[in-house]
Order: sequence, then structure tokens, then C-alpha cells
Amino acid sequence: MAEPQWDIVIVGGGPAGLTAGLYASRDAMRTLLLEKGISGGQVATTEWVENYPGFPEGISGFDLSQRMEEQARKFGLQITQAEVEEIKIMEGEPRWFQVRASGETYSCWALILAMGADWNKLGVPGEDEFRGRGVSYCATCDGPFFRDQEVVVVGGGDTAVEEGTYLTKMASKVTLVHRRDRLRASPIIQKRALSNPKMEFVWNSVVEAIEGGPKGVERVRIRELTSGKVWEKPCSGIFIFVGMVPNTGFLGDLVEKDSRGYILTDDEMRTSQPGIFACGDARKKFLRQVITACGDGATAGKAAAKYVEELMGKAYE
Ligand code: NAP
Repeated sequence: MAEPQWDIVIVGGGPAGLTAGLYASRDAMRTLLLEKGISGGQVATTEWVENYPGFPEGISGFDLSQRMEEQARKFGLQITQAEVEEIKIMEGEPRWFQVRASGETYSCWALILAMGADWNKLGVPGEDEFRGRGVSYCATCDGPFFRDQEVVVVGGGDTAVEEGTYLTKMASKVTLVHRRDRLRASPIIQKRALSNPKMEFVWNSVVEAIEGGPKGVERVRIRELTSGKVWEKPCSGIFIFVGMVPNTGFLGDLVEKDSRGYILTDDEMRTSQPGIFACGDARKKFLRQVITACGDGATAGKAAAKYVEELMGKAYE
């Protein structure tokens, strides 16, 4: 067989994939990163990041991801926009991988999976119908459409509370609906939201339907879980932040996953399949943050480079 085109192919261009690309390229690996959308993944649409070390004033998620891409490219990382559809193990001496993405095929000695996770949906009537007409999963993208209007936010985690607080800069009022009687979000994020006069909290409640007309969302139906009472809340928009689902469905049983679909790895980011590594939010792990995605990416980039060097008999023992 002819030599694979690439030493390492990375799937996904968020902080994990870009950092893996930086490390693998600096280790002189011919490295290609395939990303279906824009570089940066979820952080690219995050308004403000204030817990990434080195930026005491904080930095916009978009700027941070642009800088990560620029740094990785500087060391030779190639980036192509393509959506990966299939990965095949090609038996040979040594084995290699074939990746099909947006109609092209790419071959490599090692793979790094860094597809991250996508937003969960609520799964209620009106959610699909009004998507883009009042239903949103991105405050940075859609917040400005709701200047001086009332919006509802669903969820009690870091994302819902942080993005809800951000929305108060534009909306006249933000009503956060959470299914419990307290927030899951970390204390500093909670404190800011709870003391924000433009935020209102509806506890022990769920949104059970999103309703509107030809112009978009007009109200949501809220059910109080304790009493069962249902009431209507007029609003122009609803932002849904109810957690994430890993983008690992297309892998089938190529690598071992947990019951929720997160990829299992060891501490060198090795999956159950030799030559395939995983990093970032798609991996089963304790903490999903930009900094931990970057940490995973560094390890995966380095470990994949070592794997390729060993295949080539060039590893420094
Ligand atoms: P998350 O922590 O999983 O929180 C999801 C929230 O949605 C929970 O409050 C959950 O309720 C609620 N929920 C889930 N399904 C629901 C449903 N069907 N109906 C109503 N509510 C539902 O997700 P996340 O907030 O997106 O955060 C994901 C990860 O990113 C976390 O590890 C988080 O720490 C991290 N993150 C960090 C920052 C930061 O540090 N600045 C910012 C954003 C995200 P329960 O509480 O009842 O489960």
C-alpha cells in the first residue's frame, strides 16, 4: 500500500482538537484537522470566557478560538472544512485508517476524535417549529434580536445561568425556568444571576410547550411540578440550555463508549481501538471546560505522535 496521506487526522476543531493539532504538528507529524463548522466549537459562540488562565480580564470565546487556530496553523496544522461520515480500519502491516468526510477520503496512521458535544433539546411541542423564530440554543448568536423584549431561559447549569445573565444586557427581562428548587451552576455564576434585578426565577417547573404565530414565539406553557398547575408566560424568545449529548453517534461500535455515548479513554487518551485517541467533551470525564479540553488535546496530540513514531520505528525510548 502507498503510505497514508497523513500521520494524524483529527476530527473536530474545538479547543481539544486545535490543541491536539498544535501538539502533533509541533512534533513534526503531518496533521490534518477536519471540522464541519467553524473552528472553536462551542466556545466560539460563548460570549465571554473568564476562567481560562492567562486572561485576567476574560476573553471572548470567539477571539480565544481564533487565537488557538492561528497558533496551531503556525506550526503546520492543516484544517479542512468537512463532516466525517465514516471511519474504517484498514488492516495491513501496520494497520491504518480511512476517513470519509463530505465525499472525500483521507488516510492516516492515527486518529484523534475531538467532536465535542451538542446541545440537548427539550423535546416539547413548538421547539422545532419555532427554531430560529424565537427558539434558540445560542445567546451570543441570537440575543441581540431580543433587545427590550422578554425571554425565557430553560436549565439550571452553568450554561443556562451564565447565558441568561448575558441576555439581561439586551432583553428587558429574563425568566429562568428550572425543574428543581435550586441551581446546579457553580456558586460564582449563581451569585451574579440571583442578584441581577432583570432576572426572575421560576423553580420546580418545566416548559411543556412553546406557542406563537406567524412572526414567531409569543408565549410558553409552564408546568409547576409540585402542584401540577399550568400557566402561560408571554415572551418573544426561549433559550434552551439543558445539557449536552456527545457527537459520537456516527462511530457505531468502533470505540468503547459509556451508556450516554461518551468515549472511554485511559489517561493517555487512548480509546479501546489501538491508534485511535479521544479528547475533550466527547470523552467520559469529570470536568468539561475549555482548559480541560485543551489539557486532553495536548495529551492526545503527544500520545498519537508517539504511537506513529513507534509504528515507524522512530520512537525515542
Ligand atoms: P449541565 O451542567 O448538564 O446542566 C444542564 C441543566 O439542564 C441542569 O440544570 C439540568 O437539570 C437541566 N435539564 C436537563 N434536561 C432537562 C430537561 N429535559 N428539562 C429541563 N431541564 C433539564 O449542562 P451545561 O450547563 O450546558 O454545562 C455543561 C458542562 O459545561 C458542565 O460541565 C459545565 O460546568 C460546563 N460549563 C462551564 C462554564 C463555566 O465554567 N463558565 C460555562 C458553561 C458550561 P438538573 O440540574 O435537574 O439535572
